[in-house]
Amino acid sequence: MSGLDAVGGGPVAELFASRQVPLGGIRGMRVDRLLPHRSLPTVGGWCFLDRFGPQRVDMRVLPHPHTGLQTVTWPLRGEVRHRDSLGNDVLVRPAQLNLMTAGHGVSHSELSTGDAPLLHALQLWLALPAGREGIAPGFEQHTELPTYEGGGLRATVLAGALGEARSPATVHTPLVGADLELAAGTAASLPLRADFEHALLVVDGEVSVAGTTVAAGPLLYLGTGRDALAVSAAANARAVLLGGEPFAGELVMWWNFVGRSHEEIAAARADWEDGDRFGEVAGHGGERVPAPGLPGVRLRPRGRRSWAEG
Ligand code: MN
Repeated sequence: MSGLDAVGGGPVAELFASRQVPLGGIRGMRVDRLLPHRSLPTVGGWCFLDRFGPQRVDMRVLPHPHTGLQTVTWPLRGEVRHRDSLGNDVLVRPAQLNLMTAGHGVSHSELSTGDAPLLHALQLWLALPAGREGIAPGFEQHTELPTYEGGGLRATVLAGALGEARSPATVHTPLVGADLELAAGTAASLPLRADFEHALLVVDGEVSVAGTTVAAGPLLYLGTGRDALAVSAAANARAVLLGGEPFAGELVMWWNFVGRSHEEIAAARADWEDGDRFGEVAGHGGERVPAPGLPGVRLRPRGRRSWAEG
């Protein structure tokens, strides 16, 4: 039996490869998508994880809608201008957490500043739990985040809690998201919650974790049942730890929407194409990303599959 067949099935250490997807139209960039993976739709409430860069690129993502989720934008290098239908117009910089709650519906744009700057960033989504998927939209920027330090490692807690270090960001399920900076020679033990499942993505260098040495690229899924995680690095490295209570219920994810049914997603799409549900992002002269056509089949929830089905 694979570790993923039974949520709460205990510790595992399995690598999930990323896939490259285009983002932002013809002038767009390629991103590495880690979540959702066909065999791993979520890690806790984390339902989406893209890594882009480091590359010199004009990022130009025009106004587009979201529902049922929170976006967490975490630049590692470079800055991005965020504008949304709530009237926010901010620069998103490294070491600052930007959390947009879509809930019932919000729209936003993301553009790089300057001429083809060097960008390296993570884009994450948190699925809102049943009963809260339609809450009012909101936006938070946090410039002061708590840290956990020990054994050469410095963890910045973006969301949720790591040990006693708790992020001020508003989240709706028990979880953790932390940026781990490992100095050369790090040998540390991270405090984990055994009822959480966890995964780790190396973004720079190499990290040894749970007996596996991982370089930048794949997502290392660690399963549940760990109350500590030994991490070490011979040279400077950086990684992101994600975890949370295994997400209850199934999600239907399509384009920029997270929902529970085909009908919900189809309604969100129709409302983006024609309606005022998602407001307007000022400063784009009405330019926006049109919704793609729905597939000819009913959208279905993503489930967890065994390796064999793959
Ligand atoms: Mn977006």
